[in-house]
Amino acid sequence: MPSLFDIPINNLYGIGEKKAAAMRKLGIKSIGDLIRFYPRTYEDWSSPVKISEINSNLCCIRAFVCEISPTSAIKGGKQVLKVRVCDGFSFLSIIYFNNPYIHRLIETDKEYLFYGRINNSYDRITMVSPQFMPVNAPNKIIPIYPQNSGISSKNIAKFVKNALTLLPTEIKDPIPINIRKKYNLCNLKFALENIHFPKDISSLNMAKNRLSFEELLLMQLGMGGLKSHKAQSNICIENDYSKEFYSLLPFTPTNAQKRAVDECVKDLKNINKTAMNRLVQGDVGSGKTAVASCICYTTARNGYQCAFMAPTEILAEQHYYSLKKLFSNSVNIALLTGSTKIKEKNQILNALSDGNIDIIIGTHALISDNVEFKNLGLVVTDEQHRFGVAQRAKLLSKGENPHLLVMSATPIPRTLALVVLGDLDISVIDEMPPNRMKTDTFLISSNIRKRALSFIQKEIDKGRQAYIVCPLVEQGESDLISAQNYARNLQAQLSGYTVALLHGKMNGKEKEQVMKDFANGKTQILVSTTVIEVGVDVPNSTVMMIENAERFGLSQLHQLRGRVGRGKHKSYCILVSDIKNKDTKTRLQVMCQTNNGFEIAEQDLALRGPGNFFGAEQHGLTDFKLHNFNVTNYLEDTQTVAKEILSLDNKLTFPEHKALRAEIKRLFGSVSSQWLN
Ligand code: ADP
Ligand code: MG
Repeated sequence: MPSLFDIPINNLYGIGEKKAAAMRKLGIKSIGDLIRFYPRTYEDWSSPVKISEINSNLCCIRAFVCEISPTSAIKGGKQVLKVRVCDGFSFLSIIYFNNPYIHRLIETDKEYLFYGRINNSYDRITMVSPQFMPVNAPNKIIPIYPQNSGISSKNIAKFVKNALTLLPTEIKDPIPINIRKKYNLCNLKFALENIHFPKDISSLNMAKNRLSFEELLLMQLGMGGLKSHKAQSNICIENDYSKEFYSLLPFTPTNAQKRAVDECVKDLKNINKTAMNRLVQGDVGSGKTAVASCICYTTARNGYQCAFMAPTEILAEQHYYSLKKLFSNSVNIALLTGSTKIKEKNQILNALSDGNIDIIIGTHALISDNVEFKNLGLVVTDEQHRFGVAQRAKLLSKGENPHLLVMSATPIPRTLALVVLGDLDISVIDEMPPNRMKTDTFLISSNIRKRALSFIQKEIDKGRQAYIVCPLVEQGESDLISAQNYARNLQAQLSGYTVALLHGKMNGKEKEQVMKDFANGKTQILVSTTVIEVGVDVPNSTVMMIENAERFGLSQLHQLRGRVGRGKHKSYCILVSDIKNKDTKTRLQVMCQTNNGFEIAEQDLALRGPGNFFGAEQHGLTDFKLHNFNVTNYLEDTQTVAKEILSLDNKLTFPEHKALRAEIKRLFGSVSSQWLN
């Protein structure tokens, strides 16, 4: 029988081309994907509250229908229908607007469950347009799926129900039975059925536990396998040119930078004939670029080519210009991004395959098929969490097992690092360049934004610059401040100052110009979306103001804050948020209390769980799907299990590991072929 992952979604009964397209947008391409498309949250109808005990905005009650009043029209042409219900103790009025069919669906003297929003105005409690179901309905925990304009959560639920009937009675469970027993995990079929349509809360928890465990175990095994089957490599560096590189720098490297460089150089000398596979982790501003540049320089001076990949054009360009200046003519360096002109691009491609370019810096453009190297010796990826392992692998495949250096400024908590970076050796830069001052951080509400702006004005009058970050580009239906409007209004307000706008929808040239003007001090305030989040370096800027700060994860805020405090001036970060929610406030307060990225990362993980840790960005191969679920304890359990399995059966050939092997092949694709061929 073919795998359900091989059956396209439009083969499912009831799904036409339109729905299939909407589903593909949600990442659901096959029936298997649909079954693995877990609910975002659930409506719990299983524990209704008494009417007298209603205390939340959204709730579920169980009550008899006493009376249904006839529809009446109120002003604005709305039709109102009132249903009076009683739970044996108290009465409650339920109101439906413009829904004349309700009285055909609800009968008086019958008991129902109602789930809806409570309105508390005019001293009277009413429930507004609740959903309802008979009290004996079988499923009382209703899944809520991520939806889009083409398909609703309800529709998805219906199709999932269909899809689940296609599962064979006995499904092969990737987690071997002895492990399931040891960690008290339910079987796969039970888990899949109950993650979608839980029988009760405890079944739902069983399902979540089991699926989280599985997901983490697969990640650990996939990464562990990669690590234990490192590729042979004959690329070795004879001479260490790091001292020569240091002499080019306008500053003295810190001890931590030197240590990281030495660790890399040792790998490059390649005594064991295995390629370097190293992560350099260091807080924002710790000077990772210098380390990477030094390694590129050493590799290039030994006659090998280097590919340096950055996640955004801005960053690639910045690295390019600073390295070009540093190296002058001692090594040949070029830039390749999506906006490189055809003619220039062809020249670069030729020079690369002829070996006339020593270091190529670029974006994802570097992994396209037509990029060929003569003798690629080193691949560097900056801000590694922005790239998947597959993209890394693609770039590596352009040489004969070149060395790999990845850099990350998102400090990743140790437990999580084991999962997403399990295949890498790690160097930590735990020291900041000297004379850095702490960036003072404040959390304010929008009603004192004016004061914040006049503070920014003062800084600019001193010759400094400022960033203002807004979450979105264009004004959407929500009230989030859009960068475009914001920049326009700000320019009007601060007419004597120059305000520029930077966002992801601008083309490369426009972005480059805006960034250049800011870097040269031509513009004083840069209003931007998060495109500036990673890496950008303008040491003269001293204020980072972030609007709707609650929309960002802590690690992301820390990244943004890292854009200031990079020079010799005292810097400030202003977080603007009107959210009253206590948890959100606590989260944002963490930013005001510490500047230490590792501490922030630990807090972020604890507060939001691994599923949300990296925000929407890709952070490896597969996203953690079980958001908001505290699986932190499983991080270590699954690591233990993965190690045990690999130590007994390192190519997963035992019969009890057959299903596990198949799952890893599915999730890791070509990346796993290195060890699971
Ligand atoms: P990140 O680690 O966030 O990538 P960068 O490499 O962009 O940090 O470095 C941040 C800033 O610090 C840059 O302006 C860089 O020139 C400067 N810098 C790096 N190392 C040192 C050092 N040892 N002494 C002084 N300044 C340094
Ligand atoms: Mg950087």
